[in-house]
Amino acid sequence: MKAEWTKEMADVVGENKLLLDEASLEKYSKDYYWYSPILDSKLKNKKADGIVRVSSEEEVVQVLSFAYRRKIPVTVRGAGTGNYGQAVPLEGGIVLDVSGLDKIIELGEGYARLQCGVKMGVLEKKARKQNQELRIYPSTFVKATIGGFVSGGSGGIGSITWGNLWNGNVLEAVVYTLEEQPRRLVVQGEELADYIHNYGTTGIMTELLIPLSTKTEWLQSVISFDSLKASLLFADAIANTDEIRKRLVAPMEWPIPSFFTPLIKHLEQDAHAVLLETEDGTLSVLSALAQSFGGRVSYVIAADQYHEVLGLSDFTWNHTTLWALKTDSTFTYLQSGFSPESFLEQATKIKKQYGDEVLLHFEWTRGRGKVVPIALPIVKYTTEQRLYEIIGFCKSIGVSINDPHIWTLEGGAGGEMNGMQRKKLDNDPLGLLNPGKIEMRE
Ligand code: FAD
Repeated sequence: MKAEWTKEMADVVGENKLLLDEASLEKYSKDYYWYSPILDSKLKNKKADGIVRVSSEEEVVQVLSFAYRRKIPVTVRGAGTGNYGQAVPLEGGIVLDVSGLDKIIELGEGYARLQCGVKMGVLEKKARKQNQELRIYPSTFVKATIGGFVSGGSGGIGSITWGNLWNGNVLEAVVYTLEEQPRRLVVQGEELADYIHNYGTTGIMTELLIPLSTKTEWLQSVISFDSLKASLLFADAIANTDEIRKRLVAPMEWPIPSFFTPLIKHLEQDAHAVLLETEDGTLSVLSALAQSFGGRVSYVIAADQYHEVLGLSDFTWNHTTLWALKTDSTFTYLQSGFSPESFLEQATKIKKQYGDEVLLHFEWTRGRGKVVPIALPIVKYTTEQRLYEIIGFCKSIGVSINDPHIWTLEGGAGGEMNGMQRKKLDNDPLGLLNPGKIEMRE
């Protein structure tokens, strides 16, 4: 049954901007929450009442003002590639598709000013033509929007050098509130933490200013090891070597590399693999360092093939989980932070406790200047109880967990909760922005 507000909404934005057919309602109400069997069972029936596709700031304002007057929930959507049901409308209402706000407003020296719907892959290509590049981007960069990344992501390729979204990688955001007269806020500095990774609950970003770095020619390589321990020590050594510029340091325990079907012919059987992006010209240094840890270079993609053919980053970050799921749909994953000092002991304890039930996939990153191994382990899923036993064990040995099986900001992947909760009250007094994803606290 059509919601009673749809006719009026069509009058506001025009019929061609409002999708009400069942297929569209289904498609635009989903993201990649099904990576989690727990979220899958809880979110699969959630659906919007209407999809509104906007392509200008004025239209965003019209929709928000209308939603306020009629008390309709609004869930923003970029490309819908989030993993925790961030873009799933728990209470129906409007899904606001902002992917049409896709103008690159300015590509300046060291920065880009963008509408929120710009795809990060498009930006990376354009920037590289001007001898610049993105500092950080998710492995979904071909599809993902900059607004969706800032509002729903955390880090990715480049985080080994530049850190995550909170480490100076967002300079300014234009944000709209959900009120009768939506306010246009220009947010900078520390206040950005109230909006980064907010799931669209504290405001809607229409424009972003992000820093760019100078273009580097990136060589991609896979280094193979017979021992997991050696692969992790090598990854840590590379990550901590400032002389080698890098964008990616991703160790994968065997059999994870066997899930990478398009890559498998280039990989060694039974070998743990470290996937790297390092500056062109570093191969001999890499090779010598690999040898000193008992490893060898087993596959190289030349720098002139960067972004031209399927790259190694397509097998890292949460793409690793995707390849595992393609192989066996009973896999799921965790998001965890290991200790920079005792990651090896922690990894050994997990392997001893769980064997092949937990397969280790790490991404070395830099957080506030410090090199930190984070991991997205692949977990063989049996029951919710068992999954939480594993989470409990990880925590008991000092491995922090950002639970990807929860859709609320408080319970899941984090962010600056106090600031976000304050902004929620100021900017969305009726609690209509993506309701159910953050607690309303007086
Ligand atoms: P969406 O999924 O559309 O939105 C994400 C959240 O932001 C939602 O809550 C939405 O309501 C909100 N939102 C969207 N646009 C706006 C806006 N303009 N204003 C306010 N709120 C908004 N994430 C990483 O951080 N790093 C990774 O490396 C990574 N790898 C991934 C790999 C795979 C295979 C998959 C499936 C996911 C991965 N993700 C990763 C998660 C996700 O792809 C990224 O965070 C991506 O940047 C989200 O962009 P999107 O446009 O798809 O956002």
